[in-house]
Amino acid sequence: MEERRDVIIIGAGAAGLSAAVYTGRALMTTTVLEKLVVGGQIIEAYDVDNYPGFPDGISGAELIEGMLAHARKFDAELVNAGANDVVAEGPMKRVSTDQGDYVAPVVIIASGATHRKLGAPGEKELSGKGVSYCATCDGPFFRGKSLVVVGGGDAAMTEAVFLSRFATDIKLVHRRQGFRARAVHIEEARKNPKIEFVLDTVVTEVHGDGKVSGVKTRNTQTGEEGQIACDGVFVFIGHDPNTAFLQNLLPDYAGSVIPVDLNMETEVKGVYAVGDVRKGSYRQVGTAVGEAITAAMHAEVRIKDLVGE
Ligand code: NAP
Repeated sequence: MEERRDVIIIGAGAAGLSAAVYTGRALMTTTVLEKLVVGGQIIEAYDVDNYPGFPDGISGAELIEGMLAHARKFDAELVNAGANDVVAEGPMKRVSTDQGDYVAPVVIIASGATHRKLGAPGEKELSGKGVSYCATCDGPFFRGKSLVVVGGGDAAMTEAVFLSRFATDIKLVHRRQGFRARAVHIEEARKNPKIEFVLDTVVTEVHGDGKVSGVKTRNTQTGEEGQIACDGVFVFIGHDPNTAFLQNLLPDYAGSVIPVDLNMETEVKGVYAVGDVRKGSYRQVGTAVGEAITAAMHAEVRIKDLVGE
């Protein structure tokens, strides 16, 4: 099977759906490919309190629901399939999926990023049995329990505060003294009586018999080993971009972030990268949306240039 479109968007998170609103509304035939669940990372956010226009906050799920309805209103097609490979064929690009090939002059890569893992023994085995990467999804299961949160970025701080609604106590374990998180989020976590910072510390093992009962730790300064008893471990240590499938189109950037120009266009004409896959992204839902709209606006110009339509 081979389907011809004006625009193929890879990824149905906030960036991909926003691009689809614009390309669809501009009457470009648009297919959005999504291999997993529609919504990307923001769907895990219980409360998005910095997306302009929602002063009282909005849940990630609600925000995505609106974006999906908006993209559909302008006839964007959503296909449940992941991109396995993309190759350039003259001005066209061929995107291979398990459901067949899609061919278009424009491809917008909005495939986002995946949670980074600790790589500690026991993490994989106890994933879903106390080890989690999503506070919104799993937080309510830890009512009255003790938790460890790992990380020192905005996600670790904001999710620890969210988890304090359920847990009795939270140890926030971070590998150094300084934080990557912004001051406002650090302060909120610091003044929360249920959260205790355990700094200069890494988790070296997650243990438990069928479910998490604790973690082993090591002090990064002294080398001293320790233990923390807990019922759950939430890991928020960043993300890796989902770009491995670009091994043929952009071999230098497969598995890493992709450099783009001011129009979000990569070194291949008609191929754009937006959101968490873009080099230098601020990784905010608002910036992802803006980048996607920029790419979609430029795509209209580029299609004329490439195929004269
Ligand atoms: P991040 O900012 O990249 O922070 C990752 C944290 O994990 C860092 O503290 C890092 O430590 C630590 N880390 C990385 N690898 C580790 C490992 N192997 N073992 C132990 N610790 C490790 O990631 P993030 O917090 O997920 O945030 C991602 C982006 O989303 C950011 O741009 C952030 O601003 C945004 N975000 C915003 C909000 C909000 O505005 N409300 C909420 C969540 C996320 P080092 O600092 O030592 O490297």
